[in-house]
Amino acid sequence: LALTGCGRADEGSTDTGSGGESAAAGFPADSTIGVSLPQKTSENWVLAEQLFKDGLSEAGFKADVQFANGGVGEQQNQLQSMVTKGAKVVVVGAIDGSQLGTQLKAAKDSGATVIAYDRLLLNTDAVDYYVAYDNFKVGELQGQALLDGMKAKKPNGPYNIELFAGSPDDANAKVFFDGAMKVLQPKIDDGTLKVVSGQTQFTQAVTQGWKAENAQKRMDTLMSGSYSSTPIDGVLSPNDTLARAIMTSVKAAGKPLPVVTGQDSEVESVKSIMAGEQYSTINKDTRNLVKATIDMVKALQKGEKPTVNDTEQYDNGVKVVPANLLEPVIVTKENAKEAYANDPTLSKLTQ
Ligand code: BGC
Repeated sequence: LALTGCGRADEGSTDTGSGGESAAAGFPADSTIGVSLPQKTSENWVLAEQLFKDGLSEAGFKADVQFANGGVGEQQNQLQSMVTKGAKVVVVGAIDGSQLGTQLKAAKDSGATVIAYDRLLLNTDAVDYYVAYDNFKVGELQGQALLDGMKAKKPNGPYNIELFAGSPDDANAKVFFDGAMKVLQPKIDDGTLKVVSGQTQFTQAVTQGWKAENAQKRMDTLMSGSYSSTPIDGVLSPNDTLARAIMTSVKAAGKPLPVVTGQDSEVESVKSIMAGEQYSTINKDTRNLVKATIDMVKALQKGEKPTVNDTEQYDNGVKVVPANLLEPVIVTKENAKEAYANDPTLSKLTQ
């Protein structure tokens, strides 16, 4: 799996694909492109906003980029209005990937192409492409980092751990968790890892809305319920925002910090990693994800087939959505300098 979004595994990327359901006839070069983003639950979404605005404008399109901070209803209305305004492509980072079927169908009926961005759109045939970092791989990297980090501190187990997952309405959350559990479950089974609370199911580990306060509350409960007289060695956290909330809770309980994973390379978490607190994060450079998406839009504008490198993994319940998957990178204090070398903001933090 060496592709990093710069190639495709099968067909030629300039094939106009006559007869292919997703091949468009092209559209005017100054068309409106709608980008519907979810709530600002992590820095990557905020970065994406400006990158989409700049990148689409530079390419000559009219960019209509919006957040849905008010929730699912707001996102539904936004999408509908993008369709009404004649957007030729709608790029959707869904709050809840299963709640947009009506609006996505309206988009398709109007002749627009629908691209799921970062999060898959579920239970609808009205989605043409998916662009994301490989979510399952993100989970595997997190699970492995948790093991490696704990081993580095204490060569032999058993290790006491707790598991956190993202928001259950985000299709990614389960995929991250499953990827991590692929690595962790065998170690739970052989006794190397002990989930002291016994909460090993996704439904027990979820964090509604990806909200820091929800993770912090659950961690407070775990600390007082399961760790008042037992040390905690590690916590699987699905992203940086939640990792920091979990660490806040452990500190408030007056306990030494366990190994905590993360994702997104948020500024505060990269600082925390450099300070030896948070153990790991994942680099999913938003610049590359937005660029891959805009490259898709450019291909569609010309009536060409966009680049995809996966046509098997992302079954949304109705169809397998052709995907362009980018490769996530695990980052710890050890490789941070190298990992962020070409990131003007983050490289300053690793000097
Ligand atoms: C994204 C993560 C992000 C999370 C919360 C997920 O869908 O893939 O990068 O941390 O949403 O915003």
